Amino acid sequence: MTSCDDNYLSIAIPTPLRQMFDYLPPDSEANLQPGMRVQVPFGPRKLVGIIEAIKPESDYPREKLKKVSAVPDQSPLIPRDIMQLCRWASSYYHYSLGETLLQALPKALRQGKPATREKIALWSLTAPLDEAITQSLKRAHKQLKALQWLEKYPEGLSEPELREVGISKTILTQLQKKQRVVVHEVERIDQHFTEYANPLRQEPLNLNTEQAFALKGILACLTFHPVLLDGVTGSGKTEVYLQAIEATLKAGKQVLVLIPEIGLTPQTVRRFRSRFSVPVACLHSGLSDGERLQGWLAASRTIAGVLIATRSGIFTPLPKLGLIIVDEEHDNSYKQQDTLRYNARDLAIYRAKIADCPVVLGSATPSLETLVNARKGRYSHLEISSRAGHSRPPTLELLDIRQQILHEGFAQGLITRMQSTLDKGEQVMVFLNRRGYAPSLICHDCGEVMDCPHCDAHLTLHRTPPHMHCHHCDYQTAIPWSCPKCHSKNLQPAGQGTERCEQILEQIFPTIPLIRVDRDSTRRKNALSEILDRVQTGEPCILLGTQMLAKGHHFPDVTLVAIINADSGLFSSDFRGLEKTGQLILQVAGRAGREKKPGHVIIQTHNPQHPALQMLVSQPYSRFADSLMIERKQLKLPPEGYLALFRTESSMAAAGENLLKSLRHILLNHHQQGSVRVLGPIPAPMEKRQGRYRYQLLLQSYQRVSLHRLLDIAVKHLDSMKLPKDLRWTLDVDPQEMT
Ligand code: ADP
Ligand code: ZN
Ligand code: ZN
Repeated sequence: MTSCDDNYLSIAIPTPLRQMFDYLPPDSEANLQPGMRVQVPFGPRKLVGIIEAIKPESDYPREKLKKVSAVPDQSPLIPRDIMQLCRWASSYYHYSLGETLLQALPKALRQGKPATREKIALWSLTAPLDEAITQSLKRAHKQLKALQWLEKYPEGLSEPELREVGISKTILTQLQKKQRVVVHEVERIDQHFTEYANPLRQEPLNLNTEQAFALKGILACLTFHPVLLDGVTGSGKTEVYLQAIEATLKAGKQVLVLIPEIGLTPQTVRRFRSRFSVPVACLHSGLSDGERLQGWLAASRTIAGVLIATRSGIFTPLPKLGLIIVDEEHDNSYKQQDTLRYNARDLAIYRAKIADCPVVLGSATPSLETLVNARKGRYSHLEISSRAGHSRPPTLELLDIRQQILHEGFAQGLITRMQSTLDKGEQVMVFLNRRGYAPSLICHDCGEVMDCPHCDAHLTLHRTPPHMHCHHCDYQTAIPWSCPKCHSKNLQPAGQGTERCEQILEQIFPTIPLIRVDRDSTRRKNALSEILDRVQTGEPCILLGTQMLAKGHHFPDVTLVAIINADSGLFSSDFRGLEKTGQLILQVAGRAGREKKPGHVIIQTHNPQHPALQMLVSQPYSRFADSLMIERKQLKLPPEGYLALFRTESSMAAAGENLLKSLRHILLNHHQQGSVRVLGPIPAPMEKRQGRYRYQLLLQSYQRVSLHRLLDIAVKHLDSMKLPKDLRWTLDVDPQEMT
């Protein structure tokens, strides 16, 4: 026990202030340690904070300091390694340590709820499934599916686990009424994952040569080494992960698997759960706060052997961490776009270093940052160049649509190909990265376009339900009857979104089932999961959707993928625009022909000569990446240089610009400025958003150290300024989007 009588506690508190706060230990005898939560008086409020350090001295006289009012935990919730990770993140992203530490905890703990494992409700069958039951539910497809699923898990399944496979509470209640299922409240088992005799529920596949080589590379040593697993779509990366996890579990270690957005890939979670008998915890936005807390506790108390999580999972304690996997490492969703603007992929490398374990970054289209690290030898580069099993790579074809008659965006050549694919009993996927009916509504008489009153953006026209919607600030309004400028009634939708595309496809293929997948059609819980199940039945259908369709799905019967408009991404003002477009096209293309039947991809374009498109269809991804790298080198842009972006937002146009001008002045005068270029201030690409004016100041350098030294100065300067009330500034280190 530490006697804290003469000590001071340095407490992290969630405030933007870049400082810790000193408090005195509580009266009661407690075994205080850094990483424990405390409750402290803070002004008029009581806040949950975290002991950052226990120290013998304070800059303040003892009698001026307040006492901690409560210590809810017996042991630290933030262990040493997570503390170290947070310190690093806080300093690298120049963000308050207090807020960094608190955001590392699940919301329930941040709010001061107890860190206890609660009882869990488990659903199971009342009697084994037999022919009579199956017959009686022939028309209740979903109920039958639920029973079939529960049959595989005699120990019972929880509601979130059932939700992940598309079984809702409603279905369960219906079955409960028929006395087909029961629910029991049980204590959670506190058995550690290492106590399972066999971590496997299901036998692994036989790896092919390339997969086996990759697995060997990952397991070459169990100490820190980053690996890029660069395998084409459908090459069986997931199977390699599963076997690396198996080996790690057998060595008594835990595994952290980061994936982009679990809601979008329920299949992945299913695959992991079916493989392993040890508990697989999940952390993602589809869970309630209570469910998240339970997952977090299972991981941090070594009950779960595997944690599958979205980006914030990187902060979850795993005392026996032995492997980190970052799937689809190129994905933008690893970067948090507000508060602590961290990149979970980059933090994964640092965390693996602390844990001294391997870390695998997997992708068919690795980011240029990761490719450079691999090429410079910092990461080992393991490639899988062919698809697993009997599947062959899809063929890609550019369809020149210049001067062609288009049927509402579809060339005749494409329609014919779709028809013949459907005739063969196969499925077609149509990709269009715009939701809604049309991206704008335009007056045919005077040319006026309906704009958002709060943003520099057009309003998107939606038909189901009919309304105008701003996709940037969520402003919604009725569809106007007439032009606000000339009062003409001749308003016409311009351009094409998924809703309009759906309408057209229904006209062209009236007998074919059409399945639309976008944010609007999948808003309801389980919706996506149900949609994906429909596709798995293998019946001919057209699957139409946005980039939600690109993410790692495995559709065995899709053999034709059509990309309706590849051009929109080719001329983006963002320097990463082409990289992102290329990755998206290849990921979408990667959904074609993933099993025995060969896949084909048709890309409609007005720019068939565009070198990037040419390269994408005829060369491996690495050649496309090489060509982008040349430009980045010339311009000293990432990964050949480093960026940091200051942004301001204010309801007064000049306020942000003036602040950034003064910042620029300070930075240019500073002797340490050296190799850093200061560019701007300029208005953001969308100058006005949600009624606020936005400005940017960009810092660019090929030396990370000098950049960060200057950022320290900049942040100090900004912290010392007294700002007008509604002026906000933020700093984005390694920004992913320049918006
Ligand atoms: P990726 O994650 O690289 O896109 P997946 O892991 O989803 O690829 O694999 C694609 C398909 O190939 C899956 O259906 C998977 O079951 C199958 N597969 C993977 N490895 C093998 C193997 N060694 N033998 C047979 N089939 C395999
Ligand atoms: Zn008009
Ligand atoms: Zn808006």
